[in-house]
Amino acid sequence: MSNFLISETYKLPSLGKIYNVDVPEDVEIRSMNIDEEIMRLGNNGTWKSLCNLLDGCIVTRLPISTYDMCTADFTFLWHRLRVVTYGGAYPIDCVCPYCNTPNQFNIDLMKLPVVYYDADCEKYRNFELPISKKRVTINIQTPHMLDAIETRVRQQREKTGNSSNLLVSLLLAIDTVDGKKLENQSEKELFLRNLDMKDINKIIVACDKINNAFGLGVKIEAECENCKQTFTTMFQQGKEFFRPENDIEW
Ligand SMILES: [Zn+2]
Repeated sequence: MSNFLISETYKLPSLGKIYNVDVPEDVEIRSMNIDEEIMRLGNNGTWKSLCNLLDGCIVTRLPISTYDMCTADFTFLWHRLRVVTYGGAYPIDCVCPYCNTPNQFNIDLMKLPVVYYDADCEKYRNFELPISKKRVTINIQTPHMLDAIETRVRQQREKTGNSSNLLVSLLLAIDTVDGKKLENQSEKELFLRNLDMKDINKIIVACDKINNAFGLGVKIEAECENCKQTFTTMFQQGKEFFRPENDIEW
């Protein structure tokens, strides 16, 4: 590692507790260099390319790629990569919903709240369906799954003219049914197609809950500089995320 790179250690939102392999709670990550910037600029729009970049900056030896870590851990590490490289100062542009005045705020990325894994959220990973009484376990979403969903939806659309993001997502989300792994896609599809919508809905809601149960908070409380009303805005990654200019001293 070059003498000029900076590294910091951060606690993963999952605490490493959701994996089948031994992922440590604390992960050391170093700042980017020009090789990673070239990778970032040349990324092909897949999660895989971003994960390759991120993996290269992780100093801790991890048994899996960030590609197969949950999206909550990925997003967290992505933010920390920005912080360790450029610091936490970040400008947010938003329009006040009360008076429509454009506002710009400076936030500190390190102050976005982090919610850590709690064993209580296992109830969203392993549960009984209300109608069929089948017990299902679901996979937490990973960048790998997001790429797979996009590829499969596109392939289906090219082949049949239509495709369902919902069905593809559920096929990837289902892990076991009554303790048995359904490896075969058509077996999984048959299982889903035989379920009452009330059962399907519980799976959809569970996926949403588990995927958002821990991780980086994206809501930002802001006060309009014109009308002084407070409102909530969502964090969005803009140009300043990896090409900050605001806090450069001249
Ligand atoms: Zn306002």
